Amino acid sequence: MEQKECIFCKIVQGQIPCFKIYEDEKVLAFADINPITKGHILIIPKVHAESIWEIPEEYLTAISHAAKKIAQAVKKVLDPVGIAFLQLNGRGVGQVVMHYHMHLIPRGSDEPELPVSQWELKPGDKDEIKRIADKIASCL
Ligand code: 5GP
Ligand code: ZN
Repeated sequence: MEQKECIFCKIVQGQIPCFKIYEDEKVLAFADINPITKGHILIIPKVHAESIWEIPEEYLTAISHAAKKIAQAVKKVLDPVGIAFLQLNGRGVGQVVMHYHMHLIPRGSDEPELPVSQWELKPGDKDEIKRIADKIASCL
């Protein structure tokens, strides 16, 4: 179930405090301690699962439902210009805490643009795009 040295498992167990926002049987949501915007929230499964590759489907569904519910509350309370859902899988894309978590990052009208949504659009090589898409599709 939980993993001894995992900081988010410790939060689930109540061994490390958090500013709790929402909880049900399968998920816990709390304020990120290093918020990149006002209202930055994390939603985690109550079982230890490192990433999208390990998390059981029913926990993923529960996180999705919680995200919808919490996003409604965030809209009411903070009236953001938008809210980003960000979820990193693997150290190679910047995952630091190796317990699955979904970031909910609302942006207020007075806050700067989010760094995560600011990539440059450059048309790719169509042959390569198709080749990779076909390869993945054929695996499903
Ligand atoms: P990621 O793994 O997606 O890069 O981000 C991990 C996130 O967890 C960071 O935004 C970081 O601020 C947050 N975080 C790390 N340790 C704690 C903690 O002990 N409490 C809370 N509330 N957030 C944490
Ligand atoms: Zn854990």
